[in-house]
Amino acid sequence: MKRRSFFKLCAAALAGAGITKLIEPYFPAWMRQTSAENHKLQHEARYYNKLDDNRVECELCFKNCVISEGKRGFCRNRENKDGTLYSVVYGRPSTVNVDPIEKEPMHHFYPDTQILCIGTAGCNFRCKFCHNWHLSQQSLEELDRYQNLEPEKAVREAKTRGIPSISFTYNEPTTFYEYMYDIAEIAQQEDLNVIFHTNGALKEEPLRDLLQHIDAVTLDLKAFTDDFYQELSQAHLEPVLDSIKIIREEGAWLELVNLVLPDYNDDPTEIQEMCRWIKDEVGEDTPLHFSRFFPSYQLTELSPTPVSTLEKAHEIARQEGLKYVSIGNVPGHLKNSTFCPECENEVIVRHHFSVQSINLTEGRCQNCQTEIAGVWHES
Ligand code: SF4
Repeated sequence: MKRRSFFKLCAAALAGAGITKLIEPYFPAWMRQTSAENHKLQHEARYYNKLDDNRVECELCFKNCVISEGKRGFCRNRENKDGTLYSVVYGRPSTVNVDPIEKEPMHHFYPDTQILCIGTAGCNFRCKFCHNWHLSQQSLEELDRYQNLEPEKAVREAKTRGIPSISFTYNEPTTFYEYMYDIAEIAQQEDLNVIFHTNGALKEEPLRDLLQHIDAVTLDLKAFTDDFYQELSQAHLEPVLDSIKIIREEGAWLELVNLVLPDYNDDPTEIQEMCRWIKDEVGEDTPLHFSRFFPSYQLTELSPTPVSTLEKAHEIARQEGLKYVSIGNVPGHLKNSTFCPECENEVIVRHHFSVQSINLTEGRCQNCQTEIAGVWHES
């Protein structure tokens, strides 16, 4: 586990809005609003090959797009201009917000602190259930709303406002890789923490390179069948599982999220197999969040996940030996808190995104002194 010194934040975590709430782009006064029409391609992309006829092959994610001159990749964020691949969204976030870290969700990494969240347009998945579809399923021009925010300025703002961590989130950060990488590198030098919330479908080389500057990862393990990934997300399971193992190998703190959709990925046997895989491949200490689905985007006819389904999933995960399992997006549910796996003491009392108390001393349960896996405040 990489640890860097952590400067204490000044403000309590914000009470978060529901995870299903659409994220309204918030632009602080220090950012200059710009129309997408004015954008120029100026930042060359990384991880691509030049082909004949001015085509390029992008090697950033599992899609491996071959892009003709003047066209963009599947994610809508990488454009081939005269045989050179550019990032369209470098330095052009469409959403910047200050959130509580619990909203990621991220429960075992400096709880009750704030994060500066940055997201752009675009995504390399097409999830029919996406909560942030208005950002992720549009190009920069379709969204027509972004700000100019250079990496140095993003880091400076976090520092001067006493926000200890920067998080890349809302849409898939892989699709603004170069921008994320440059911010992360500077943030690391400035002693900030860097969090990456991802669908996990990067290729190995860019992922390992990025992880040199990342402290913690929230990864959406959307289901445990390739059929689900193909049918609902136009993606595949295997690259995601590979990424989970790489993240663990590289030493970043890792938490997994499973959004449970009625009839699609709520089969108890599938959940059991997923939990076994997590335990065997990345360890029983890996926190797993079962999150409640609410109708969204192209699945508005689907009912919200019954709370009993989430409770059943929680029970299965604990029976399979995962130590830290929580239920999310059900405000007020007891299992939203973190419990000591040894004595069942409530070590972090949480109400939705708000932390009520932390009953840990030097990372140990105050009741039975069992060490709780995570990255904690040093006091
Ligand atoms: S990052 Fe975008 S352009 Fe590159 S392979 Fe993935 S979807 Fe295609």
